[in-house]
Amino acid sequence: MAHALPKVWLKPGREKSLRRRHPWVFSGAIERVEGAPEVGASVEIVTSGGDLVGRAAYSPGSQIRARVWTFEAAERVDGEFFRRRLRRALDSRRRLGLMGSTTACRLVFAESDGLPGLIVDRYGGYLVCQFSSAGAELWRDTIVALLAELCSPHGIYERSEGGARHKEGLPSRRGLLAGAEPPPEIEITVGEVRLVVDIANGQKTGAYLDQQRNRERVAEHARGAEVLDAFSYTGGFSIACLRSGATGATLVDSSTEALALAERETAVNGVRERCRFAAASVFDELRTMRDAGTRFDVVILDPPKFVHSAEQLNAGSRGYKDVNMLGLKLVRPGGVLATFSCSGHVDAALFQKIVAGAAVDAGRTAQILERLSQPADHPVATEFPEADYLKGLILRVH
Ligand code: SAH
Repeated sequence: MAHALPKVWLKPGREKSLRRRHPWVFSGAIERVEGAPEVGASVEIVTSGGDLVGRAAYSPGSQIRARVWTFEAAERVDGEFFRRRLRRALDSRRRLGLMGSTTACRLVFAESDGLPGLIVDRYGGYLVCQFSSAGAELWRDTIVALLAELCSPHGIYERSEGGARHKEGLPSRRGLLAGAEPPPEIEITVGEVRLVVDIANGQKTGAYLDQQRNRERVAEHARGAEVLDAFSYTGGFSIACLRSGATGATLVDSSTEALALAERETAVNGVRERCRFAAASVFDELRTMRDAGTRFDVVILDPPKFVHSAEQLNAGSRGYKDVNMLGLKLVRPGGVLATFSCSGHVDAALFQKIVAGAAVDAGRTAQILERLSQPADHPVATEFPEADYLKGLILRVH
């Protein structure tokens, strides 16, 4: 018989969210831990009455003390479990038509794909993994071997960095996991657009795959337009707009590495000569433009995450309001503002409120033409609404 797993006993009544299949067990919900589970090891979550709720990965260093792998009493957490979950995630992307050999997509989106703490992005023949929980970390070799088997990639690279890992007490790690080292620049084709991706040194796993479709939506408003692409990164929005007939684009980003990639990416797309690049803080640059009377037909605001925790909600909301006020002031009357937030803590309703407040304070009238969110390869599991993080508004500004 298999060894019994250590048990995490919940306080009375604290199984409610788990019964709804929300996968997180917070430290405050735990009565006691029976046995001595190692970091990331599988544990059984049981109610105060001793009923099994699910099997989870134990994270002793995190407020999210356990993340449930499975709610099925009969399902064990082993290599076959990860094979089933990865297969399911890959099948979903295949059905979405996202598995072409030169394209890019997110293959695994953590909790939404039943694999808390694991993100896998695919750029052509290369996979990039992010292990951000103790459980995902423990199963790293198994997951890498399965990805190699199921996807036959040229190489698998790791970009396990950032805040989520620190909250779990895990150090950052970057490097080759399997197969061949990725070349310094990978070219990906998305529809008609070519992306230049630096897997080892780019931001996140190399690109912002979540904005691909939104770039096309915004570009529909760009014919004949002068575009301001604030927080441009490598210029994805600018390229889409210029290909749709924008006359010029100004890319603003504080990262000189990002703008170096933007120069390459706009060049391979044949639009570089219509671009201007400003390596600067968006807040400073937009104020300078405002004071100089510089105006645009389309202004895009795609800032980094301002709100990382509930405690940052007020300060972060202020940040969104400030940047949107600045952006609104730079839109020519009758033009368009496309504005985004990737902070999960700021939901769509709050974001709309913030933008509405910014319009009032900027002395502009704005109408919502379209609401944008995240694409199908970043799905939102219904029991895990936290996965719903990206929101955007396309507004006509008078
Ligand atoms: N719009 C991009 C993604 C933007 S990600 C795309 O479609 O791919 C956010 C970007 O903002 C990053 O490139 C980061 O370098 C930049 N950034 C963060 N803070 C900034 C600031 N204060 N001023 C200018 N750029 C900033």
